[in-house]
Amino acid sequence: MTNGKYIYLQTFGCQMNVHDSEKMLSILATHDYRPTDDIHRADIILLNTCSVRAKPEHKVYSALGRLKKFKEKNHQLIIGVGGCVAQQEGERLLDRIGHLDLVFGTHNLHRLPDLIDDIQASRRPMCAVEFYDEVRSLDIFPAPSDGEKVKSYVTIMQGCDNFCSFCIVPYVRGREKSRPSENILGEINALSKRGVKEVTLLGQNVNSYGKDLSGGFTFPQLLAHINEIEGIWRMRFTTSHPKDISEELILAFGKLEKVCKHIHLPFQSGSDRVLERMGRGYTRKQYMEKAERLREVCPGIGITADVMVGFPGEDERDFHETLDLIQRVQFENLFSFKFSPRNGTRAARYPDQIDESTKSHRLWVLQKLQKQITLKRNQELEGRYEEILVEGMSKAAKEEMTGRTSSNKVVNFKGSTDLIGQLVKVKIEKGYTNSLRGKIV
Ligand code: SF4
Repeated sequence: MTNGKYIYLQTFGCQMNVHDSEKMLSILATHDYRPTDDIHRADIILLNTCSVRAKPEHKVYSALGRLKKFKEKNHQLIIGVGGCVAQQEGERLLDRIGHLDLVFGTHNLHRLPDLIDDIQASRRPMCAVEFYDEVRSLDIFPAPSDGEKVKSYVTIMQGCDNFCSFCIVPYVRGREKSRPSENILGEINALSKRGVKEVTLLGQNVNSYGKDLSGGFTFPQLLAHINEIEGIWRMRFTTSHPKDISEELILAFGKLEKVCKHIHLPFQSGSDRVLERMGRGYTRKQYMEKAERLREVCPGIGITADVMVGFPGEDERDFHETLDLIQRVQFENLFSFKFSPRNGTRAARYPDQIDESTKSHRLWVLQKLQKQITLKRNQELEGRYEEILVEGMSKAAKEEMTGRTSSNKVVNFKGSTDLIGQLVKVKIEKGYTNSLRGKIV
């Protein structure tokens, strides 16, 4: 490769993709590629894509369309697509987008420098979408960022074996592959030496961690070992599956002091009929019992979730059961979406699809309800004292700092930059829908 070239990378989708993008930059940095925010300067443009929902997938195609003029101006430019859309579409993407040079799937991230070398040598498009027994990118450490980094993601597994009827993940990320625990602990130890205080463990279904490793740790055992790492003060994890969350894991919230008081536990629907057709493997009653048990073991735990409206066949009664579950559980926040059929999944073939206007209306009703609950729960904290990890300067106001409570709520407060990376106590003065205002004590 030629020295000192620039890479422009755009990420679509979830935290897992954000972290994969960090890994791409890290592996390309070892081949003298430097990131740039200026697309006009780029020698390589990469899009790291998501196909879990229709909207981010459509955005990828729009972005690719806009890149055509860059290729026309600079024939040496390499344009590549990675991530879930790349995995799903493979060669079809190269056929469809004439100015595209590279398609690399979710198990091929580690090959990125070699693939780019091959394209430069042959000037021919390349497609790499094979699945491997071992996901080599799990062990790529992202490069240290400039300045002090307080928190970091750590991938512990990739893929999913659940095959929920609406979900494309098992097809585009592959089956569950856990990363050996010694590599995870090694990475977290290294992060702690760089000053990282909080780690978020990533996987499509973290509760299943270790099931595919012979003689390895279970997920709660992994948490117990991370709890012992000096210099790491907090740990979080996402995403948990309600059917796989064990009593042992629930007890870890009460036992391991570094496990933050927050869980993201997608419920998707409050109707048993819909849950059954989704193939989720739990009932509304079982979900609510787990939420209750979590609050028993860990009072004050913040519970957030994913929910969708307009799943095929969802009628008004099903939808009201979803609203009822939201009222009963009183989530801190929800990520709510309209169902969008994903090609190749069972739910895309269900005949009783719901029309867009009904979906939009249900989403509006649901989000309005959740907004009220979120505001109420944030206001309940007014007058209380919370420990927050200071992450940096607030985007909202100058001379303000920002951090998060253990329950994952954003708190803005007046303070100085030397607090970054510190745990500080604040008194909550005001609760809003998206954040809290506090005063350092
Ligand atoms: S558990 Fe999550 S990632 Fe796996 S298939 Fe279901 S929705 Fe998709």
